[in-house]
Amino acid sequence: MRIGFIGLGNMGSGMAANLVSAGHDVIAFNRSPEKAAALAERGATAAPTVAAACGADVVVSMLADDSAVEAVTFGAGGIVESLAEDAVHVSASTISMALAERLNAAHVGAGQAFVSAPVFGRPEAAAAAKLFVVAAGPSERITALQPVFDALGQRTFVVSGDPKIANLVKLSGNFLIAAVIESLGEAMALVGKAGVDKREFLELLTSTLFDAPAYRIYGGLLADGQFEPAGFAAHLGLKDARLVLAAGEQLETPMPVASLIRDRFLTLLAGGGHELDWAALGAVATWEAGGPKPGS
Ligand code: NAP
Repeated sequence: MRIGFIGLGNMGSGMAANLVSAGHDVIAFNRSPEKAAALAERGATAAPTVAAACGADVVVSMLADDSAVEAVTFGAGGIVESLAEDAVHVSASTISMALAERLNAAHVGAGQAFVSAPVFGRPEAAAAAKLFVVAAGPSERITALQPVFDALGQRTFVVSGDPKIANLVKLSGNFLIAAVIESLGEAMALVGKAGVDKREFLELLTSTLFDAPAYRIYGGLLADGQFEPAGFAAHLGLKDARLVLAAGEQLETPMPVASLIRDRFLTLLAGGGHELDWAALGAVATWEAGGPKPGS
């Protein structure tokens, strides 16, 4: 399949490389052109503009946030203007439900299709084609896109015919991960202050009642205080806390823990933690208990 790919950050670079490895004809654009040049060495074609990456049956975008997706999609030379009729835009970024709705309306209005397909998994999972894809949109489009999803991940969950529901599900999952990071961080601060080895504590947890990737991955980063380089930056974690709260507001569903998590992210960022991994959220508790500032 001929696939345009826009956004070669921590996640997009591995995802686009896997599409190349699976035999797809990939034409890739990134705002900072050196990342597209690096992918070209692996067999992709570097696109000089967004419009050039849209000369394909499918264009996948994997960008930081709502404003980045808006910047490449709408307006002159954007995806809506550049994509052929009947082609499909697959948005893999973690964005708001409201933007997913606007994207769907704009693409349908232009005779194109829109599928939301945000993913679970960190950059290592993206590079290893082990992501979990959460897809929503017209079912015949999702069926046709299965070879693309298979090249990116280990399993695809089709959650709705309405694209924005995939974003809601993704944001709800990230809310749960952040809650794990926060609560694990508090527990580790407590036992750590009493002299318990955090690694041994984690070994106990993950060998008994908490044998799950979220505990293993984030517990390991917390126990080791390993927050740089960020696989998923803390400022993007705040973005997701904000977006899940917006979804809660829209659906009149109070989420008191999400409100708390948003404030904990603000504390982390106010302490200079923007570019730390979002696992550093859990290190705020140790800092407040008299320990080192996250990342110091
Ligand atoms: P990242 O490393 O910060 O990459 C962000 C990408 O967006 C880069 O390609 C960047 O281009 C581009 N970008 C940012 N602002 C832009 C703008 N105004 N116009 C055009 N391009 C712009 O982020 P990431 O970790 O790959 O995350 C990408 C998305 O996946 C986010 O929505 C994130 O929430 C989601 N996600 C991340 C993870 C993870 O563990 N990292 C896991 C699942 C989902 P430049 O290279 O020029 O800066």
